[in-house]
Amino acid sequence: MNTAPGLGWPDNPGDPVNDDVSGVGWPAELATEMEPQTSPVKSPGEAAPAAKPSGTRSKKSGGLPPGHAAWGNTSSGTAETGYVPTNGRGAKASAPRRGPNQGESQLVREALKNATVSRETSPEEAQPETIAAAALKAMAKRGDGDWPRPDHCRVITIANQKGGVGKTTSSVNLAASLAMHGAQVLVIDLDPQGNASTAFGVEHHADVPSVYDVLIEDAPLSDIVVAAPELPNLYCAPATLNLAGAEIELVSKVARESRLRRALDGYDKGKFDYVLIDCPPSLGLLTVNALVGGDELLIPIQCEYYALEGLGQLLRTVDLVKAHLNPQLQVSTILLTMYDARTRLAAQVAEDVRSHFGEVVLNTVIPRSVRVSEAPSYGQSVMTYDPGSSGALAYNEAAAEMAHQPIGRTS
Ligand code: ADP
Ligand code: MG
Repeated sequence: MNTAPGLGWPDNPGDPVNDDVSGVGWPAELATEMEPQTSPVKSPGEAAPAAKPSGTRSKKSGGLPPGHAAWGNTSSGTAETGYVPTNGRGAKASAPRRGPNQGESQLVREALKNATVSRETSPEEAQPETIAAAALKAMAKRGDGDWPRPDHCRVITIANQKGGVGKTTSSVNLAASLAMHGAQVLVIDLDPQGNASTAFGVEHHADVPSVYDVLIEDAPLSDIVVAAPELPNLYCAPATLNLAGAEIELVSKVARESRLRRALDGYDKGKFDYVLIDCPPSLGLLTVNALVGGDELLIPIQCEYYALEGLGQLLRTVDLVKAHLNPQLQVSTILLTMYDARTRLAAQVAEDVRSHFGEVVLNTVIPRSVRVSEAPSYGQSVMTYDPGSSGALAYNEAAAEMAHQPIGRTS
């Protein structure tokens, strides 16, 4: 029995759980079969990263009252610095914004309007916006409007104890994409670094009510949830740095593994179609809370060397949570991220993951894309920062697959 000391497992668990999760010990074979590749990671055809804005980025959600504030803080640029982010091509980086429940056509109109603006200001630089608008137009044309909404609120934990595999990027962009297609989405940022909160342009400095207050101070979720200023239909429960201390503080709390679940149970989730929980890169009590709080687990796997290492440990933890704390938890989705089509290694990792996990692996793989990595520094998802980029289109496809998963419908 793996008692996983320090993780808050019950001291005398009932059923022993088999430690041996079959078939997950493959990194060793992989390591001998495959050479690590050191080729550059830029996707073909993608421009070099644009210079990041220096200094503080704009904080745009300040005026939003806690608990489902109104849409539409549309300020851009920073109040402090007057800096207006650009996409590195002379055009304003902000992407089309929509009002609540507006359809794709509005999105397209605004994208076209942006394209016109950039043509006026700099004809030779108008191309990227035009491509983005064209992509949106194509989406609208093939009827890629609102997707089916699940018949219950799907609470999806996004976890992998490895850092840098795309947990936050996937949480943010899948959420944005689902919201852009009509779903009501809440992202719970459970990583003390607060990267998901940053990516949505949601304030998360020390004074902001955050997930810490929910887990440690028993604050209701409705006190901390705010609307993301960039996109309608999207809400965020921000993380602040003091969440780092929560790992320790939780240890002495009653029901330390189930505090997020309790908060979710006491919250009116009915208005949401999806709750996505972005986890920190560890298997500590924060991640355990996310596994107990979620019904589904989405594991992002980076298509790189050592990608599969540690996965066995994650799956063992899932088995323990299922056995003792949350029987309905299931690995519903695996998403292959940062795929570099030029390397044999990426294809090999993808093949191994597919042969092991089967149909829970989404068909869509997320390519490495400079635009994906640039977007957070502008307080945006790539879905709004550059909707025509390969990364945005891939996240859009992945989100569409999720929206059509049978698990979304129980009847
Ligand atoms: P995690 O949350 O698992 O630690 P992140 O989502 O923060 O991982 O991603 C780690 C880093 O990789 C970030 O700098 C992010 O911008 C970058 N990144 C993630 N996905 C991609 C991608 N598809 N293409 C390029 N960079 C990516
Ligand atoms: Mg992260």
